[in-house]
Amino acid sequence: MKPNTFLTAAVFLCLLSGLAFSIPAIAWYRETKVKHADRRIRFLAHHDALTGLTNRPQLIEKLESAIARLPMRGSSLAVHFIDIDRFKEVNDSLGHDGGDFLLKSIAKRLRAAVRIDDVVARLGGDEFVVVQCGIAGKAQAESFASHLAAAINATVKFKQHEILTTASIGVALATGEDTSPEGLLKSADLALYAAKAAGRNCIRFFLPEMDTELQARIELERAIREAVLNDRFELHYQPLFEVSRRRLAGFEALIRMPAADGTLIPPLTFIPVAEDLRLIDKIGAWVLREACRTAATWPAHLTVAVNLSPAQFVAGNIGDIVATALTEAGLAAHRLELEITESLLLGNTETIMAQLRTLKTMGVAIVMDDFGAGYSSLSYLWRFPFDKIKIDRAFMQSLNGPHCQVGTVVKAIIALGRELHMRVTVEGVETANQAAFLEAAEGDQVQGFFFGRPIPASELGASILADFEKAMPPASPAPAQATKLHLVNLSAER
Ligand code: C2E
Ligand code: MG
Ligand code: MG
Repeated sequence: MKPNTFLTAAVFLCLLSGLAFSIPAIAWYRETKVKHADRRIRFLAHHDALTGLTNRPQLIEKLESAIARLPMRGSSLAVHFIDIDRFKEVNDSLGHDGGDFLLKSIAKRLRAAVRIDDVVARLGGDEFVVVQCGIAGKAQAESFASHLAAAINATVKFKQHEILTTASIGVALATGEDTSPEGLLKSADLALYAAKAAGRNCIRFFLPEMDTELQARIELERAIREAVLNDRFELHYQPLFEVSRRRLAGFEALIRMPAADGTLIPPLTFIPVAEDLRLIDKIGAWVLREACRTAATWPAHLTVAVNLSPAQFVAGNIGDIVATALTEAGLAAHRLELEITESLLLGNTETIMAQLRTLKTMGVAIVMDDFGAGYSSLSYLWRFPFDKIKIDRAFMQSLNGPHCQVGTVVKAIIALGRELHMRVTVEGVETANQAAFLEAAEGDQVQGFFFGRPIPASELGASILADFEKAMPPASPAPAQATKLHLVNLSAER
């Protein structure tokens, strides 16, 4: 054999043997890759892609088998439905990266907080479910729910931001044999709804009556959305009287929402729900426009008071909204009073103070409503120069009760207001005796059913306004009947 032929044969043999070795290697490599991809697909089918926690279909399967094992084990299980409070705000302010980071960190903390038998699942968004297996009863579920809440309640650092998370938790216990995974999840979800409605950052256990409450809440939410869409709210107006001159000073605008059956739903029922639905900005802007428009038709010495919800200060544009309402209606700023409550000042943030100052600079009067109720702090009075303080109606309700100091406190607030150059209105005056007390105490203004209930704008005719000028009762209770005669048109709210 020539050397060239020998070389060619040798190369050929080498290639052949290399091929013989590499074919199985490639096949092995391919198989591993396929298996890996297969495992990944199966993992993703059962787990949430972001957090790696169990997903909904897998949760249902695991719950099913846990429920089936209950009679054998002689124990119970609890489903904890968890919702991260104000998660949307984190997502909105820090972007999806921030939101995802928070969800992953919560998933990690929940995993660390449970036992090996328990299941931690994410159902999407900021909703997590923990199935607590092998428990003896409710007490164990209660302490475990608190343990989960404590695990979530921590500060997370994302870039230069610190996020403090809290959670609302709804718990359902598997009791009867007919328990189904879907039924348990629904009950826990209802309990979660109740926890959120109770102000969030709390735990609620499922109760059978929650089903009916939820239906009522869903119906109320639907009615609010519809009323916002079709401008179906109404404003009623309640008179305020100047004590010294015994004449009408103005009206407070109070919102009502017509129900399907023709009755009116009071604000304390639907305003908190509208706040939850983030519809209060729209409703509040409508109230301002409508109240200013109506007040512009009254005699020029009459004022109109509008209540503001703390949620209306979040966007930071309340000054613009008020300015637009005044301009559109052609109402002088000094005729508008804005009533805020102490809860707005609890946060004491500079942005709220700045907005209040802007409003005051515009010439609008700022009123501290419901003074003396809730978390009263006198410090609010020197932190902001209110134009007026409205003493909460609880004081009038207790005036003739067992606490004889109530009158003294009311007189002291009136004196304090005078020193601070703030007018003082007393709310909830229902009797001639209360009216007489306030006249003697030299309060600035009074408001209450004794002088007139809230009524629709269409009923505030010119003749009624003229009557109001004579309406303040004298100090002695006896002629009070005569006074009421002037107000007979206003005595029943429709
Ligand atoms: P508020 O601002 O303190 O209004 C006074 C409430 O006391 C009114 O209830 C009024 O009808 C009631 N009231 C007046 N005089 C008497 C009385 O002599 N006896 C008794 N028992 N009650 C009296 P209403 O209209 O149900 O409003 C409740 C609360 O809802 C208001 O309390 C205010 O905080 C809120 N609200 C009303 N309208 C609005 C609104 O347009 N926007 C916002 N954000 N809140 C509103
Ligand atoms: Mg008010
Ligand atoms: Mg009030």
